[in-house]
Amino acid sequence: MSEAATLPAELAPVTAAFQAAATDGQRLVIRGSGSVLDRLPPPAGAEVLSTEQLTGVLDHRPEDLVVTVRGGTPVEELAALLATHGQECPIEPLAGHGGTVGGRLATALAGPRQLAAGRVRDWVLRVRLVTPECRVATAGGVTVKDVTGYDLCRLATGSWGTLGVIAEVTLKLRPIPTQSAWFSTERPATSALADLYRPAAVVSTADATYVHLEEHPDDVTAQATTAGLTPAEPPRWPTTARAAVDPARLAELTDWARRSGLDLAAFEGVGVCLLDGDAETISAAAAQVAALGGGLLHLDPRAGGAHAPSGGPTDMRERVRAAFDPEQILTDVRQSR
Ligand SMILES: Cc1cc2nc3c(=O)[nH]c(=O)nc-3n(C[C@H](O)[C@H](O)[C@H](O)COP(=O)(O)OP(=O)(O)OC[C@H]3O[C@@H](n4cnc5c(N)ncnc54)[C@H](O)[C@@H]3O)c2cc1C
Repeated sequence: MSEAATLPAELAPVTAAFQAAATDGQRLVIRGSGSVLDRLPPPAGAEVLSTEQLTGVLDHRPEDLVVTVRGGTPVEELAALLATHGQECPIEPLAGHGGTVGGRLATALAGPRQLAAGRVRDWVLRVRLVTPECRVATAGGVTVKDVTGYDLCRLATGSWGTLGVIAEVTLKLRPIPTQSAWFSTERPATSALADLYRPAAVVSTADATYVHLEEHPDDVTAQATTAGLTPAEPPRWPTTARAAVDPARLAELTDWARRSGLDLAAFEGVGVCLLDGDAETISAAAAQVAALGGGLLHLDPRAGGAHAPSGGPTDMRERVRAAFDPEQILTDVRQSR
């Protein structure tokens, strides 16, 4: 898995930065496009290790529905290239938020389309990671069956830049659905869902339910008619905070958020709720989310940042981190407050 002897030239700046940091006792924070990072409090005393030079599509095999891309490649650039072949990887971030492929994997933030498309990690076939000790590790395989070895793909997905630089990623692709459209209804999500077959996304806001359908045009029209849906623009995505809870407990959070006057977009079946509101109410939301066993990421840079990692076995995360980064060169930006 370790392949330092065949280090590609474009990784030299990354390993040089890690070596210098180890020598100087400097801490580093990996930065993609900064769409999330720049909204969190700057980690004290850490230098930025940018992936902006680490871009480009390395291999696209349309017939195999597979693409290999460097970690700093903007997600929108990749989506545009794939669209020319009628293909997509349905893990793109929310419209307008940008992001790089490496950042998308590192944060593994669920989008509303996770309801039907699955999690980010389900689309990752292979990852190449450069660790702070300058080991270059590759794991996974280009075909779905070839997944022997250490499950680096899963470790890197959601690693938040704490294990190393995601330098290359191989992703599964799929054909772009023939039709893709947003609808809205005043029916509560649970009621609308009962009339829908595999919707791509169902999003509850403060006053409506939004449904994203992706299928053959005839099926989209038939489903929309049966469920009493009206064509609509996508909902507005709040940007102050992002709560993640067990999908079964999402309704408790959305009921509370509505009563508290927060603006919200809750991804039904996924367990994510984006929130907008004043600092005091968002703090109260953080307590509410913690009581539900979830985590809240505060993404308002003016608020000075706040964070609760969303669940998960913290001790295991720390053990993995210590194995990849024993000198603790990399900063966990979610802990930087
Ligand atoms: C308010 C807000 C809410 C959002 N909510 C969602 C959502 O719910 N669902 C969704 O799909 N998208 C969401 N996004 C989009 C999200 O910004 C992108 O999906 C992407 O995850 C971030 O990419 P980036 O390159 O900007 O990462 P950055 O903001 O630069 O970095 C984010 C984290 O990833 C690490 N990182 C970045 N690149 C690498 C790399 N190559 N190797 C290792 N670690 C790396 C950084 O160290 C940092 O910890 C949201 C964005 C915003 C601003």
